[in-house]
Amino acid sequence: MSNISKILIANRGEIALRVLRACKELGIATVAVHSTADADAMHVRLADESVCIGPPPSRDSYLNIHQIVAACEITGADAVHPGYGFLSENAKFADILDAHGITFIGPTAEHIRLMGDKITAKKTAVELGIPVVPGSDGEVLPENALKIAREIGFPVLIKATAGGGGRGMKVAKTEAELEEAVSTARSEALAAFGNDAVYMEKYLGKPRHIEVQVVGDGAGNAIHLGERDCSLQRRHQKVWEEANSPALNVEQRMKIGSICAEAMKKMKYRGAGTIEFLYENGEFYFIEMNTRLQVEHPITEAITGIDLVHEQIRVASGAGLSVTQDQIVFSGHAIECRINAEDPRTFVPSPGTITHFHAPGGLGVRVDSGVYAGYKIPPYYDSLIGKLIVHGRTRVECMMRLRRVLDEFVVDGIKTTLPLFQDLVSNQDIANGDYDIHWLEKYLAETSAT
Ligand code: ADP
Repeated sequence: MSNISKILIANRGEIALRVLRACKELGIATVAVHSTADADAMHVRLADESVCIGPPPSRDSYLNIHQIVAACEITGADAVHPGYGFLSENAKFADILDAHGITFIGPTAEHIRLMGDKITAKKTAVELGIPVVPGSDGEVLPENALKIAREIGFPVLIKATAGGGGRGMKVAKTEAELEEAVSTARSEALAAFGNDAVYMEKYLGKPRHIEVQVVGDGAGNAIHLGERDCSLQRRHQKVWEEANSPALNVEQRMKIGSICAEAMKKMKYRGAGTIEFLYENGEFYFIEMNTRLQVEHPITEAITGIDLVHEQIRVASGAGLSVTQDQIVFSGHAIECRINAEDPRTFVPSPGTITHFHAPGGLGVRVDSGVYAGYKIPPYYDSLIGKLIVHGRTRVECMMRLRRVLDEFVVDGIKTTLPLFQDLVSNQDIANGDYDIHWLEKYLAETSAT
């Protein structure tokens, strides 16, 4: 790739390995950085060079900008791929790399800031022609909350401007619940994000979560790669994702996709991004845009055959997109299961040593994971240990394959969420594609009662 010859991967776990694989395929040298807890990680073993950047806590290692920049200088890395989480949506990090002449593989700092603040993001979405959830024009203060809520109509949702991970969100079903919802959301937002600003939206009762994958070249060209349905969530964390959404037909897909691609063209957006919507009664409502690679990006790769990390590196290097919109062919159906080191019923984390590990194989099967037999899962980070991605020509074939593959997968020594997927793949509502964002929590509550 023209001006990128060595990439430092500022992340860990399966995504660090994922990025490393893309770099190798493009003939780009790799630098792994790791905390002392991750010295034995697979991506560290496979990278051309590695640098230890600090002790286990993330703030001292994977979030330590100073150490990461120093590692770039020591190794001569000319670009950084941030993965997801950690520094991937940190505009200050993008600015600092820029000041050091290091390429940030992602959007401009300005676009990260624009989408990082939810009120600004929503205003921008409206300007770009993206449909949004009806709600307040900006910040909601306790003294004007009732007036705004009456205009929107109950139930309403109070959300943190700086929000993330579903924190600082409160529903008020009636006027009587409003005052408390606003004050709890403000104090939760202050505690979680150091910013108590909140805004208000109409609360949608039974939406699906549908998101559109986009990639832009920063010069006014942009494409969409269809949507992902991530409605199966627990505590706002995605558990199972599919592409395409069982709820959309081709016309709906191309319509929302082109709205998003046009918006990215207008912005001159650079890099991969995901525009998230709630979808109810045939209507899309923008909730946020993530200016980075998503965990669930492989299902989009499965149905398009396009490597999103290759595209990210290409556009960061100025080489442009490898495909045009009319060259993209959507083929078949893909499902991703997030395999967490957690008890499948209580979701309590289960770190420890993996004694046996056997990943399934065969046509249409992809396992993105950095773990292996003998690997000790450190207790300091999130519990995602791997992703299982299954592709089939139809949704039925994909589900049948998933059922077969789940039977083959062996992870011993720790508890994992694999048994949950065995239940879900046999469930009639899932088979029918008939679920919304509340379905999984209801299902878990009902099945644990019996
Ligand atoms: P965060 O950045 O905290 O994850 P989001 O705006 O992405 O916040 O919303 C997270 C989740 O909260 C959504 O996936 C959905 O489940 C729920 N949610 C958000 N906005 C609404 C709304 N207006 N009505 C109903 N549910 C909502």
